[in-house]
Amino acid sequence: MDKKAVALLSGGLDSILAIRLMLEQEVEIEALNFLTVFCTCTRKGCQNAAKTAAETLKVPLKIVNISEEYLQIVKSPKHGYGSNMNPCIDCRIFIFKKAKEYMEKVGASFIITGEVLGERPMSQRKDAILLIEKEAGLKGLILRPLSAKFFEPTIPENQGLINRNRLLDISGRSRKPQIALAEGFGINDYPCPAGGCLLTDSGFARRIKDLIEHDSLDLSNVRLLKTGRHFRLTENAKLIIGREDSENAVLEAQIEDGDICLRLSDYPSPFSIIRGDADNGLIELAASVVAYHTKFRGQETLRIDYRKVPILNHTTISIRPAKLEEVEKIRI
Ligand code: SF4
Repeated sequence: MDKKAVALLSGGLDSILAIRLMLEQEVEIEALNFLTVFCTCTRKGCQNAAKTAAETLKVPLKIVNISEEYLQIVKSPKHGYGSNMNPCIDCRIFIFKKAKEYMEKVGASFIITGEVLGERPMSQRKDAILLIEKEAGLKGLILRPLSAKFFEPTIPENQGLINRNRLLDISGRSRKPQIALAEGFGINDYPCPAGGCLLTDSGFARRIKDLIEHDSLDLSNVRLLKTGRHFRLTENAKLIIGREDSENAVLEAQIEDGDICLRLSDYPSPFSIIRGDADNGLIELAASVVAYHTKFRGQETLRIDYRKVPILNHTTISIRPAKLEEVEKIRI
């Protein structure tokens, strides 16, 4: 067994500290960062946080985008969901399987993580951690330097590559021990201390569930979920309305052929998209909901321009703005 490990590096404090502890024991590290469409760590994303951390730690970093494959896990996780649509156990098994492949590829002998026992309710309970390790085919090969004392010694410890006395016994949700440790190491730049996953957000989870129920969970539709108000028009059509200028711009940048774009004809208006099959009746319904979300909704009728992408010419219709109860009925 070589003294070389693959370290999962989110860019958060725990993963930075875990690597730092291993570098102190002269382990050769290959850092690995997984990106998914659900990551919300910083405005610039986890990728950026991981890059900064790897540069600071002076370790090589491989970033892998697993969004496409990951959608299958979100759709039907074997071990179920957490409090929202977060399939944490399946997610961790998937990530560790990928890490194992990488470990074998780069000739590393074990895996390092910043996991802290009990820090997260679903995936960091001891029974869950051990189940994940077993199902990923990594029994005895995952070293968690921050919480190692709560686990049986791993194979690299048993083989004398790692000094167990220098591993730690941090547990629970308090961040104080990690922050103290970071201070001791002179680490004060950790932009993603708690990590971020949209699947744990109840509003986002409702929208993901809607996509799954309507068999339309794909990357393009998931990206749209991050912006605007969402409405379910029919089994295969949705309406998305921007809430402010920045969202209007984001939505406009995401339109695809076949989408129908709507705006008020005569006033400033939110940018809106119908995605899915829409006949004239459905376009009128969507237009009335768009009209409701403007400050002109008190008017008897409003004119709306719509066009089907990529056609540039638009059609104008006059509609009555929807009532609150009509809007609420279809809000996701
Ligand atoms: S919170 Fe999200 S990213 Fe983290 S383990 Fe759960 S599903 Fe995976």
